[in-house]
Amino acid sequence: MGVSVGLTSGAIMAKGTLAQKKKYAGDLMTLKKIGAWAITEPNSGSDAFGAMKSTARRDGEGGYILNGNKTFITNGPHADTIVFICRLDEPGVEPRDRKIVSLILDSGMPGLEQSPAFKKMGIGASPTGELFLSDVKAGPERLMGESEDGYGRSGAKSTFSTERSGVAAMALGLVERSLEMSLDYARTRVQFDQPIGSYQLIQLKLAKMEVARLNLENLVFRFIETRAAGKDMSMAEASAMKLYAAQAAMEVTTEAVQILAAPATCAQRAWSN
Ligand SMILES: Cc1cc2nc3c(=O)[nH]c(=O)nc-3n(C[C@H](O)[C@H](O)[C@H](O)COP(=O)(O)OP(=O)(O)OC[C@H]3O[C@@H](n4cnc5c(N)ncnc54)[C@H](O)[C@@H]3O)c2cc1C
Repeated sequence: MGVSVGLTSGAIMAKGTLAQKKKYAGDLMTLKKIGAWAITEPNSGSDAFGAMKSTARRDGEGGYILNGNKTFITNGPHADTIVFICRLDEPGVEPRDRKIVSLILDSGMPGLEQSPAFKKMGIGASPTGELFLSDVKAGPERLMGESEDGYGRSGAKSTFSTERSGVAAMALGLVERSLEMSLDYARTRVQFDQPIGSYQLIQLKLAKMEVARLNLENLVFRFIETRAAGKDMSMAEASAMKLYAAQAAMEVTTEAVQILAAPATCAQRAWSN
């Protein structure tokens, strides 16, 4: 949902033309369609712009011919609408200096292939896959903002900022549920004639989980308030939020596994709820 509504329709609402907003964003925001936002490639992850190989070549009729391979794309397997970020094939300009442009694609376009979902270690409800583009013909109306300067590096960076803040909301959900399950188990699991929650070692783990939950809640509220005031978070603040949120979620879920002890019991309880 975050990628479809937040990133894909968010990018179109921020930088698309009125016609593009009408055609694509409404259906994404009302969940009639699923969106994907594709920048990562097999050899371009952290160095998303520098190592990017996917290209848009001008076709001489105002449109573009698209080629490339994207990977780790959330909703890639099922997306109806894809924001495809690539490099403009500009003869005479050094590859690393070429413009970044974005095009809005529809599933089923000739030459566009969407892989099945990968098997992942976690986040099972969010499908992740690959996109393969081979001479996909895209008319000028698909170019984001109908301009080669419509949604390039700065547009994509502002989407990174939204994505980073969204990680705090995901982490908050993980932490809340881990804490609920841990509290429930600590109250009911008896060892040495006492609920394990009566032991200080377990109490300290639960206290640290609550501190993480409160911090994450505050970060999420701060993000909501900032956006409600019509402002964007800075890249530094959104990045700090993602770093803290991801680490807090890892620490809390690891401690939850310790409290619930046998991993098999943990898995069984997680699925049964
Ligand atoms: C579940 C999931 C969903 C995703 N969804 C999307 C999506 O919807 N759309 C999309 O475009 N992408 C998506 N991605 C891709 C994600 O953006 C990339 O995984 C991310 O950019 C990192 O790239 P990489 O995995 O290739 O790691 P790499 O860039 O290869 O990094 C490997 C390691 O090297 C480290 N490293 C890299 N550069 C440096 C450096 N300069 N100094 C020190 N250390 C460095 C990294 O921190 C990391 O530890 C998704 C990934 C996952 C796991």
